[in-house]
Amino acid sequence: PNSQLIKRTFTSIPYDPDSVDGNPVRVLQWNVLSQALGQNNDRFDSCPLEALEWKHRRCHMLEEILRHNPDIICLQEVDHFDFLSRALATQSYSGLFVPKPDSPCVYINDNNGPDGCAIFYKNDKFDLLEKHDKVLQVWTVHSNQVSLLLILKDKNTQKELCVATTHLKARKGALLSTLRNEQGKDLLQFISSHAAGRPTIVCGDFNAEPTEPVYSTMCSCSYLPLDSAYKLSGSEPLYTSWKIRGGEGEVMHTIDYMFYTKHKLTVSNILDMPKEIDIGENRVPSMTYPSDHFSLISDFYFNTNTNVCE
Ligand code: NDP
Ligand code: CA
Repeated sequence: PNSQLIKRTFTSIPYDPDSVDGNPVRVLQWNVLSQALGQNNDRFDSCPLEALEWKHRRCHMLEEILRHNPDIICLQEVDHFDFLSRALATQSYSGLFVPKPDSPCVYINDNNGPDGCAIFYKNDKFDLLEKHDKVLQVWTVHSNQVSLLLILKDKNTQKELCVATTHLKARKGALLSTLRNEQGKDLLQFISSHAAGRPTIVCGDFNAEPTEPVYSTMCSCSYLPLDSAYKLSGSEPLYTSWKIRGGEGEVMHTIDYMFYTKHKLTVSNILDMPKEIDIGENRVPSMTYPSDHFSLISDFYFNTNTNVCE
């Protein structure tokens, strides 16, 4: 009973029902916290050891992913893809995974392989048309960050959707903020080349607060006009991650986003961040939440007259 997941509620976003088609697509975005990093690298000193054990975390991880029944799931820091893949297959999901080229996980004793990005989709709702992945470049040099992109086709409506995810370079500093911005520019080119005019959703851990250049870069792209779904609630949330680390202390900030092509999709619901009182003073991860990042969920309608390709 004391290890029930933190409760979550939705906020509905006003929209014009006449300008949208069919049923919404529910998309979940989440940095799940790599098992190897969470247990050995992050120094979550205020978190009970038991809460960081895989046998505890994996249950909450699945519960958090499944409790709101998303159609598409974008995850980062996945170092247990085989487990997630087998568990989610029982709920009609198919998934794809792309590891980081030189994941910090593999340098940790008893690691479970490299961490990376994964996308799962309901295979009774979508057909997979295309899968692409890319090592993001910074000034034409490969970085250690990746993106994964799928083109999905709705089995009922035949509408096509491009979904991409990424986990940009972590840590503070002017140089790293510039580096993330370059990764964002490369990401946008990669996505637009495969999206080819389709409605597009870009989810990820951008490791950048809304004041960083990469956030503006994502929201002001001339050839791929994107908006941030959570900003529709008035402003970005106060936090998408809230943790206490040894040495570093408390960190509360917004670094995870769901961007979408505003002329082709309409957001009707977003999942609120948990309240401070429910998170608890030791923050997360905790016995009641398995990651230091909270999941984001948005419901997206296709706008009327959004065709397969334009
Ligand atoms: P990043 O800087 O992008 O970070 C890697 C991971 O560390 C992320 O998942 C990030 O989580 C997490 N992280 C961020 N801040 C902290 C923090 N203060 N304390 C602990 N973990 C944190 O790494 P790269 O992919 O660029 O890989 C480079 C890193 O990998 C190096 O920093 C090095 O530590 C490690 N490495 C070690 C090697 C070795 O031991 N021989 C060799 C190669 C790499 P989030 O996104 O949630 O913030
Ligand atoms: Ca992390």
